[in-house]
Amino acid sequence: MTPWTGESTTAAPVMVTSAGVAYTDPVQDALARDLDGTLWALCAGAPTGKPQYGAELHPERQRAAMEGLLCACCRRPAGRNEHGMLWVLPILDDSVGTRWEGVRSAIPPMCEPCSTSAPLLCPRLRDGHVQLRVREAELIGVLGTLYPRPGSQKAPDPDAIVLYDSPDMPFVIARQAVRELRRTTVVAFAAAAP
Ligand SMILES: [Zn+2]
Repeated sequence: MTPWTGESTTAAPVMVTSAGVAYTDPVQDALARDLDGTLWALCAGAPTGKPQYGAELHPERQRAAMEGLLCACCRRPAGRNEHGMLWVLPILDDSVGTRWEGVRSAIPPMCEPCSTSAPLLCPRLRDGHVQLRVREAELIGVLGTLYPRPGSQKAPDPDAIVLYDSPDMPFVIARQAVRELRRTTVVAFAAAAP
C-alpha cells in the first residue's frame, strides 16, 4: 500500500477552465476519472524494490483499500470486533488533545497482525500512534491538489481536503480517498519508539 521504489505519481499537463480542472489529453482525462467524475492523479511505473514506508500511500492502492475497507499494509480485510473496525493513526503534533471523534483519515484501516508489525516498520507510526475502534467511517471526500479558479493569482494547494458536496470538487486532482471516523473508541496510545 505504501509506494514502492520504481513507482511514482507523474505530472501530466492539466488545464483549468470555469468547469474545473482536466488533463489536457482527453483520453488520459477520461481514464483518470471515476464514476462520479472525480479526477485522480496518474501513476507510473511498476512496484519494484522495497516499500517506501513513510511516504504518502500510492493513490490507486490507497483508493482500493479505503473504498473496500482493506488493510493499509497487506490488503486483507481490516480487523473488526464488537467495538468496530481497527484503525492505527500517527499522532501528529497538532493532534495532541484530539478526541479522535470525527477525525478525517486518508489512512485506510488495518488488520490485526499488521497493527502489531506496521508501527515497527513505518516511520510515521514509529513516532507515536493511536489504535482506534471505529463504528462509522463514511467516505466524505478526497485529499489532493486543489487548483485555483481561472483568473485567480493563487497557487495550487497541494494538500487540500475537498468534500464531495463542495463546489471545489471539480477543481481538485485527487490522490487519496478520505473517510471521517465516528463513534470511535481509543484502544491504546503508543509513544514514540526509541
Ligand atoms: Zn494487514
